[in-house]
Amino acid sequence: MTSRSLVLRGIPASPGIVIGRAKVLSDRGEVQASFRLIYTEEERTAELARFQGAVDQAQEDLSLLKEEIAGEFPEHAHLLELHLLILKDQMLYDEPRRLIRESNLNAEWALNQAFEKVKALFRRIEDPYIKGRIQDVESVYRRLLGNLTGKNPRRHFNAPDPIIIVARDLSPAETTQMTASQVVGFITERGGKTSHTAIVAQSLEIPAVVGVDAATQRIAPGVELILDGLTGRIIVEPGDDLRRTYRNRRQEFELFKGEVAAFSNLPAITPDEQRTRVMANIELPEEVAVAKKHGADGIGLYRTEFLYLRLRHVPSEEDLYQDYRRVVEEMAPLPVTIRTLDIGGDKFLSPLDYPQELNPALGLRAIRFCLKEQAIFRKQLRAILRASAHGPVQVMFPLISNVREMREARELLAELKEELVREGLPFDPRLPVGAMIEVPAAVTLAGLLSREADFFSIGTNDLIQYALAIDRGNKQVAEMYQPLHPAVLRMIKMVVEAGREAGIPVAMCGEMAGDPLYLPILLGLGVTELSMNAMAIPMVKHVIRSFEVQEARDMARHALELVTVEEINDYAAREMRQRFPEICRFSSALAGNLVT
Ligand code: PEP
Ligand code: MG
Repeated sequence: MTSRSLVLRGIPASPGIVIGRAKVLSDRGEVQASFRLIYTEEERTAELARFQGAVDQAQEDLSLLKEEIAGEFPEHAHLLELHLLILKDQMLYDEPRRLIRESNLNAEWALNQAFEKVKALFRRIEDPYIKGRIQDVESVYRRLLGNLTGKNPRRHFNAPDPIIIVARDLSPAETTQMTASQVVGFITERGGKTSHTAIVAQSLEIPAVVGVDAATQRIAPGVELILDGLTGRIIVEPGDDLRRTYRNRRQEFELFKGEVAAFSNLPAITPDEQRTRVMANIELPEEVAVAKKHGADGIGLYRTEFLYLRLRHVPSEEDLYQDYRRVVEEMAPLPVTIRTLDIGGDKFLSPLDYPQELNPALGLRAIRFCLKEQAIFRKQLRAILRASAHGPVQVMFPLISNVREMREARELLAELKEELVREGLPFDPRLPVGAMIEVPAAVTLAGLLSREADFFSIGTNDLIQYALAIDRGNKQVAEMYQPLHPAVLRMIKMVVEAGREAGIPVAMCGEMAGDPLYLPILLGLGVTELSMNAMAIPMVKHVIRSFEVQEARDMARHALELVTVEEINDYAAREMRQRFPEICRFSSALAGNLVT
């Protein structure tokens, strides 16, 4: 390699190669309002004009952004509409102007004081929905402050160059909002392969690299970048040679994707005729189209919390019912597995105003949260039941760690079924109810839980995190996040055996299920339903169609005889390289050393 461009390394989080200009998002917390007293009439006029300029700029940016996304994401457009209204609100528009005029304050401090007053007002509000709107006020406040301080580089929506976002961190909700057409890639300093930001980037089919050390400091705004979401490499200011190399590689990848796409609509059957259901994970109803395009045999995991995050308030039963019904009707006759609210951990529902937890991953999340906040849970369960009248639906509960949680959730479901009968509302009375196995305790109790569940779905993203004590979103330990760890393989085996004994299906819906490297071993262990990011489906079908079950069983047996994760990784990679050299070039788990 002759060029002397800077190469940064991170964790490949969403596949694809893109070239674009860096848009570096500075930390929201960094912009602080400065305080200054103004003395002269000229200064006052200048401050008023600066404030007006910031408002005008915000108005223009918000309107442009709204137009950009109105067609594809109407919910976000509503949100921006609200921000435009807030911009003109008395409290945030008239009050700062009054403070500049009458209290001799500079524009930033006047705005800050006005915002503090709004905050105090909102603190006294009881209604959680209205209370939650303070987030929107804050967002507008930050936008104005950023404009005043010049820390908000103007968005150039019509700029010809594609944009690669560079940020310390992006929340899953922010990631879903990055839908402006020029955003072609994400780079973050935080995060791991299975962090929710990575998952959302994959569903949006936007290449991403996460866990890039000091990216926001090492990448200057506006520079040209190559983002390789297959290997996790970022090339800053590439020379002509590198640009050519990566353009070729991108072409090869697109060609490969085209070839693999031929498998989308074929059944996932091994040559010795064992059928595996290959399903899609989705976060938003819009993704159903993507799932169908890639040949999903159904939705194996609908992560429902994203609607709550997107609306930023607790949706009504009707909102939820309409949302689920849309997914179910669009997928029918294929099944949809709806996972109940998995809030907490790295996904927060801020309007609820819960105290911050020291260890959110071990805190009040998922089923624990739902059993505590029964009003929210009931709404969701009723909506799921009602959606089941429109096509095949299954429901499953996340983070089950004991039998009591399963029983309590099922009892509530039974109670709500009676309620719906009394109200004359239709639903599927035999709706299958599943337990997600993502905590080591649930693995140990799989035999007991199998009596309470109609199916299991192994959530390896969390199971690996909890089994190995490795934070799934922490790049410092990302190397130790090892799906083929001997302990993880044994856990999967235990769950499959418990399911088999009880005669219930065992699915897997963590990211592990969609990586070809792990596939033969998973099949060999006896997992018969896999749910993954839709993009991975064609490749997974391709691999399944070339493996005899007996071969896969032999591989799983051999993997279980090996003692260290390194040996197992080497073994799996060797086998895959021999059989599928072309896949290995483009599988992120395998491609790490292939491009220099
Ligand atoms: C998992 O933990 O594997 C899973 C599928 O759930 P999530 O990634 O939403 O936590
Ligand atoms: Mg999980």
